[in-house]
Amino acid sequence: MRWGDMRPSDNVEQSSGGGGGFPLGGGMRLGGGAIILIVIVSLIFGINPLSILGMLEGGGPPPPAQTQTAPTSQTQAAQNPQVDFVRRVVGDTEDVWTALFKQMGSRYEPPKMHVFQGSVRSTCGMASAASGPFYCPADQKVYLDTEFFQQLSQRFRAPGDFAAAYVIAHEIGHHVQNLQGTMEKFEATAARGDPRQRNAMSVRLELQADCYAGVWGFYAAKRNLLEPGDVEEGLRAAAAVGDDAIQKSTRGYVVPDAFTHGSAEQRARWFRQGMSTGDPRSCNTFAAKDI
Ligand SMILES: [Zn+2]
Repeated sequence: MRWGDMRPSDNVEQSSGGGGGFPLGGGMRLGGGAIILIVIVSLIFGINPLSILGMLEGGGPPPPAQTQTAPTSQTQAAQNPQVDFVRRVVGDTEDVWTALFKQMGSRYEPPKMHVFQGSVRSTCGMASAASGPFYCPADQKVYLDTEFFQQLSQRFRAPGDFAAAYVIAHEIGHHVQNLQGTMEKFEATAARGDPRQRNAMSVRLELQADCYAGVWGFYAAKRNLLEPGDVEEGLRAAAAVGDDAIQKSTRGYVVPDAFTHGSAEQRARWFRQGMSTGDPRSCNTFAAKDI
């Protein structure tokens, strides 16, 4: 992917973890408070605390760790190639969605992208590398731990810059859904508390975000920003990533939605759908009889 040719966004902010966090296996950092909480939970339920840490590493909800974050300067952001990459991909999604919203007769308000290391507090709760990248509808921000880039290539075996860009574009897709009012409908269904209905709707929500990521990919390809093999990279990533966590802002807890993203085949297919049409209207997973 020729991401160096993409316009860097001004909506990417960065913080680095610090103050009390310490490294654990896999590069995950937990604050001292989280460790104490895990030990307490372990005592109550009689579980080995290390097994809880293992569960967290396995992609469960983020720990309620508290790590102070300190903003770093723009100069530092510019020097970090990963942050530069994120800024350019986000900038490109802004250009594409601004044009598409204009075509649909509305205005695209871009989300903020918060890049962090370790853990961070969001309006939707605490985030860490274990929670995966996610979109918080309440503060309209995408949260992304730079650790995720390594996880994508190592744990999910989906390496490549376009694979990482697909994941970013998928989260941006959730923001598009928020602007379209789809998130709100989803929250309303979730609030009614029928778990089966909620999960079914969650799959459609996720597959639509995959399709929207494909729509962005269509326009990246159209402007010659893709290279041979990029689409395959994206498809591999769409099929491999199963646990980006949707945050349920109203109740303030993270919903582990490993079972609510759709199958690998579905995810790759809807990504391809957006990628081949470039039309957001072709992404109506809610109207589709079979997904
Ligand atoms: Zn998602």
